[in-house]
Amino acid sequence: MTPSRHALILAGAGHAHLVAMRRWIDDGFRPPAGTLLLSPTSRAWYSGMMPGLIAGRFSEDECAIDLAPLCKACGVDLMIGEIAQLDADNRTMTLADGRGLQYDYLSLNVGSVPPQPELKDACVQVVPAKPFAGFTAHWHAWRDQSEPMQLAVLGGGAAAFELALALQKSLPRAQLSLICGGELLSGYAPDLARRAQHFLNRRGIELRANTRIDRVADGWLMSKEQRVQTADALVIATGASPQPWQIDSGLACDAAGFIRVAGTLRSESHPEVLASGDCASQPGTPHSGVYAVRQGAVLSESIPALLAGTPLVAYQPQPRSLVLLATADGGALLSYDRWSAGGRLFGMWKDHLDLSFMRRHRLD
Ligand SMILES: Cc1cc2nc3c(=O)[nH]c(=O)nc-3n(C[C@H](O)[C@H](O)[C@H](O)COP(=O)(O)OP(=O)(O)OC[C@H]3O[C@@H](n4cnc5c(N)ncnc54)[C@H](O)[C@@H]3O)c2cc1C
Repeated sequence: MTPSRHALILAGAGHAHLVAMRRWIDDGFRPPAGTLLLSPTSRAWYSGMMPGLIAGRFSEDECAIDLAPLCKACGVDLMIGEIAQLDADNRTMTLADGRGLQYDYLSLNVGSVPPQPELKDACVQVVPAKPFAGFTAHWHAWRDQSEPMQLAVLGGGAAAFELALALQKSLPRAQLSLICGGELLSGYAPDLARRAQHFLNRRGIELRANTRIDRVADGWLMSKEQRVQTADALVIATGASPQPWQIDSGLACDAAGFIRVAGTLRSESHPEVLASGDCASQPGTPHSGVYAVRQGAVLSESIPALLAGTPLVAYQPQPRSLVLLATADGGALLSYDRWSAGGRLFGMWKDHLDLSFMRRHRLD
């Protein structure tokens, strides 16, 4: 089959592309005819509200953005599909269903997947927190289960903490543990972990810190050949690892496989390619939605500049960012620099920020 050719492909409906497309609508920029937004699903899930969905605070419709109206309003064609292979030297890609695409310019915003332990067991369901569609399908099944479950959440960062609290709220009969490879919430304000631990204790969630699960075997979660605990399901929220095809794409990647970009979000090896959000690697830019959103504003100017052959805008990562962790009861914990706090007011603030993002990007 001859690959279809496109002047511009926006691959992935991540935070950065959503922000850029919404800005184009405001600015009146129209991308070249035939520009594609490539997405595995017709909706983009907003990660900041996913723990709230699990905790029963939001509906699925409130947490997802329909891509068709956004694409229509900015003159972009929506294609449902998923990159399986990228050949950057030949500017071609193959989708998971075998279709081929060719591009003149490419912007990648395909997010990340959580790194997983080695699995040698069919008795323990291993469920990555992303992609969200797969995760929520498992969560629906757990809610319908009559027997109480033993659930473990793997990860020591914000997403793992929020998901553990949310799952406990949604599955009150489940026995829940949170297993971190290092300390809980290290890298945030020093007092945040103490506040978080207080919530875990109050909700009866067992915390196992400094326990790196490297294998799942015979119904057991294993760390360095030691049995840690049994579990019916293991939720993986261990941070970011790249999409597997990135490393073989020919694009310059860092040691982990994230696409190395210059300060303009341009690939260090292929000037016709931009990368943003979790899939990109740039010093001083953590893999976080907050940074992806900021990059979206830069992309909204950089993509038109790339097409016009004019200089690209530079992206300057902010030195620190505000973190709000939902505690599944309408409240939130806040971390900023070395300062932490918690309470319902911060929960209201988080809801306000999340719902404003959704209002701005949902055009249905
Ligand atoms: C439960 C949870 C809660 C979180 N909460 C927060 C939070 O409150 N604040 C925060 O800053 N960060 C949060 N994060 C981290 C945040 O989700 C990511 O850092 C953020 O989503 C990255 O955005 P992005 O723009 O890179 O891409 P994403 O928003 O992750 O989107 C990537 C898109 O690419 C698509 N895609 C994937 N593979 C392919 C492919 N092969 N081909 C084409 N398209 C593809 C996906 O379908 C998706 O639409 C959370 C993460 C989790 C797991």
